[in-house]
Amino acid sequence: MASRSLECPRCGGSMEPGYIVDVMYGHGSAAVPKWVAGEPQRSIWTGLKLRGKEQLPVTTYRCRRCGYLESYA
Ligand SMILES: [Zn+2]
Repeated sequence: MASRSLECPRCGGSMEPGYIVDVMYGHGSAAVPKWVAGEPQRSIWTGLKLRGKEQLPVTTYRCRRCGYLESYA
């Protein structure tokens, strides 16, 4: 995603881009959460059915001043 400078909607401070990592303990791996269109559907194989769904990586901006988080996909 192109870097853009955002202003915090709460305090007007500067927002820095980043992302939230979903760490799976015990597997030694981490995954970036994805935004998926529609309602979550359970699957007995993978937990959630994701095939055929639109998936987008999520970028989360954090305010340096107050810590407010805002996510974009
Ligand atoms: Zn702020």
